[in-house]
Amino acid sequence: MKLVPNIFIFFIIYMYFRNYDKCSESIKNLYKQQRTNQNLGYAKKMRKKYCQFTNKNYFWELFDMVQIKDVSDPDISIPNNYHLFQTAEGIRKANLPEWMQLVGLIHDLGKVIYKKNKNLQEAKTDGISEDTQWGLVGDTFILGHRIPNTAILSEFNELNQDHLKYKDSKYGSYKPNIGLNNVICSFGHDEYLYQMLKYNEIPLPEEAYYMIRFHSLYLWHKENEYGHLEEEKDREMKSWVQKFNQFDLYTKDDNEKMDIEELKHYYDELIQKYFPEEIFW
Ligand code: FE
Ligand code: FE
Repeated sequence: MKLVPNIFIFFIIYMYFRNYDKCSESIKNLYKQQRTNQNLGYAKKMRKKYCQFTNKNYFWELFDMVQIKDVSDPDISIPNNYHLFQTAEGIRKANLPEWMQLVGLIHDLGKVIYKKNKNLQEAKTDGISEDTQWGLVGDTFILGHRIPNTAILSEFNELNQDHLKYKDSKYGSYKPNIGLNNVICSFGHDEYLYQMLKYNEIPLPEEAYYMIRFHSLYLWHKENEYGHLEEEKDREMKSWVQKFNQFDLYTKDDNEKMDIEELKHYYDELIQKYFPEEIFW
């Protein structure tokens, strides 16, 4: 039997995942609010407010707190921690390094910020609560800069203050090739986890930190936007972020049965190599 050409399979997969043409009203609404409310002022305020790491928990306690369903994701309807195991296992089966398996396991742990604010009304206003997630999930974009047309649901770009302000400027509020680590992206779980791991001094390689901080910046790693803001290091790291994205996306499966206890046993060894007993968050 002749195998279906690989390219065809890739095309099918590509068309199946991240299809926003007929996405639900709740996804549209999330992006509408995200474009309306995310701007430089907001993101700076959220970094100050939420990136204070005064809570302390064991790794698996933290892991179990992220049972949240991501409203922005059209491809998944199971709690986030299954998605984390699926991503990690995909990376492990591809014989990629342990540190990358670990990135698979933790990359969405930043969603734990929705547990931070005990004032639920305020958390909702910030877009960082269980039912209001525009400051927590979704594709990110660079603030203080126009939003490229290749953004998903780009019809909402015109609602964004920073976009309107810098619409006719190439570099927006930045210097040419300033480097992605020096721009401010829309606030959410990527940025929070990056800050949290840095605070805890987790000894992961630079590639891992890029995967974590920019995994939702599809405009950069998929649409190849923002080249004029990249520095040399960003160009080197991009293929790693793209490699990671294959596992983040294509391991999603709502029906897969997993032996969670056995998985926890395997990953616990990795956790112990990289993480302290208790983690500040
Ligand atoms: Fe994510
Ligand atoms: Fe993910």
